[in-house]
Amino acid sequence: MLREISVGFSVALIIFAVIAGYDIFPLFMLALAGGALFFIAQSKGMVKNLNGASSKKPTTNITFDVIGGQTTAINELRECLDFIKHDEHVKQLGIRPLKGILLTGPPGTGKTLLAKAAANYTDGVFMSCSGSEFVEMYAGVGAQRVRKLFNNAREKAKKQNKTNAIIFVDEVEILGSKRGQNNNHMEYDQTLNELLVQMDGLKVDDSVRVLVMAATNRADMLDDALMRPGRFDRQVKVDLPDRQGRYEILQIHAKNKPLAEDVDINNVAKETFGFSGAHLESLTNEAAILAMREKCSKIYYRHLQEAVDKVIMGEKMDKRPSKDELHRVAVHETGHALASEMVRPGSVSTLTVTPRGGALGYMRQHSEDDNYLYTREYLENQIAVMLAGSVAEKTVIGNRSTGASNDFEKAFQTAEKIIKAGLSDLGIVSWESLAQADKYKETKKLLNAQEKKVQEYLNKKCQVINIIVEKLLDKEKVSGDEFRSLIEKKIA
Ligand code: ATP
Repeated sequence: MLREISVGFSVALIIFAVIAGYDIFPLFMLALAGGALFFIAQSKGMVKNLNGASSKKPTTNITFDVIGGQTTAINELRECLDFIKHDEHVKQLGIRPLKGILLTGPPGTGKTLLAKAAANYTDGVFMSCSGSEFVEMYAGVGAQRVRKLFNNAREKAKKQNKTNAIIFVDEVEILGSKRGQNNNHMEYDQTLNELLVQMDGLKVDDSVRVLVMAATNRADMLDDALMRPGRFDRQVKVDLPDRQGRYEILQIHAKNKPLAEDVDINNVAKETFGFSGAHLESLTNEAAILAMREKCSKIYYRHLQEAVDKVIMGEKMDKRPSKDELHRVAVHETGHALASEMVRPGSVSTLTVTPRGGALGYMRQHSEDDNYLYTREYLENQIAVMLAGSVAEKTVIGNRSTGASNDFEKAFQTAEKIIKAGLSDLGIVSWESLAQADKYKETKKLLNAQEKKVQEYLNKKCQVINIIVEKLLDKEKVSGDEFRSLIEKKIA
């Protein structure tokens, strides 16, 4: 931006000088010298930039052993890398060398770790860069950087007497998105073309075999030319870990942390459905910080539980709601919790009125076994839990508040899911061709049925709600077990 303003200002100055009748020749020469200096600095910066990428030490300490929950991805990757390791056999069979491996998956699942471990496995040099480092305002700069990167990888491998090199491009969608789509598309296209040319030039009998590894969260954005066989020949999916995967990752990150006897990592893995490896790393770290704040020499289960809340909801907030608001929040969360126990006994993990992130309170459930498919009954039960906060407010306080807007939004989305999956009374329908009025009618019907069910249930629970609310206002946080014992005491 600054550069564009400077160029504009200089041109305006020259025009002004010409109009005012000044001799602009010395000024012109000065500008020329300035431009030359600028260009030299640019190219030096560029070299520095790429050397910066290349000067990262070969990653020798990261192996596949420190990556948890990605057994399938690791096996696939190992198989691909064996092509590089056993090149004699590959040459003998006339196999075309593997040029590129694309790692796709959500953020924080370990794609960069896999690339580093791959370099270690093949004993090659490792150079990493991000797609955004290549693209500049000026056409040609990115392409030049790509050429330089490949040359640097080869030179560095030769210097270290290595026979292979891995170039890792993170966020490859910035550099390799579909051509012709960017405003500044000349530069983007040239950069991508150069990458394609460089990949085409990789041969099995090169003295240094270069393998390009790239990572993206948006494989759908990549240009088809990049995805065709002969370029990124293999796609390795790096998904969110399942329960066993989360257990393995937690074990890895808890290795250097003193855990107390009451910690069962299996339980933590169970409660962290949807967490990525990066979330789990952050969770163990936050738990250790909480233990330190409390001056404990060990990390207790409560620290891990609070860290889960922190990773899901965010940092505790300073804002304190008024007494009435706090009471309403406690009623609302108790409503959610009672409905959760109604549809799935034993499901409440924590109930709190501590404001965190954007929420004034929350109820967290134990996740069940990792589910990937849902029945209508399961989804309806979820809607019931979502609506229960607002229903409890109406039952106990006599009116509702805006605190439930987010719950309603989620409930509508879940009802939509039921209809789209053909699980509603409408049967199998195309959501797009369904009339707006029909969509509304069916969604409303699904929500009304659950609201009625929850209302009937909570009408009978006013007393127990008040007992739990009192406890919650007193202690700020009630664990699932305490919550259940309060309900049982009331029933007994
Ligand atoms: P992004 O797509 O955002 O670039 P990524 O998939 O490349 O993310 P990494 O940078 O590899 O993710 O992971 C970030 C950190 O999260 C790692 O340094 C590590 O501490 C932790 N982590 C992520 N996945 C795993 C895993 N499978 N096993 C162990 N640790 C992991």
